[in-house]
Amino acid sequence: MPLFEYICRDCGQEFEEMAPSSDDSKVRCPACQSENIQRQMSAVRCQSGSPGGQPGTGCAPAGGFS
Ligand SMILES: [Zn+2]
Repeated sequence: MPLFEYICRDCGQEFEEMAPSSDDSKVRCPACQSENIQRQMSAVRCQSGSPGGQPGTGCAPAGGFS
């Protein structure tokens, strides 16, 4: 499972969380329990090679690579 880095927008807490199915809607800040968090993409290496690709959207392991 990919390990993502998150940062809390409320208190600034940085933490890591396993994302079971690229669903970060259930991830909360461990410090203040806020759901107002942002995923840091630095922890995940994505395949770059599509010029004009949209950063942050082509990284989900959806299994749709052809
Ligand atoms: Zn927080």
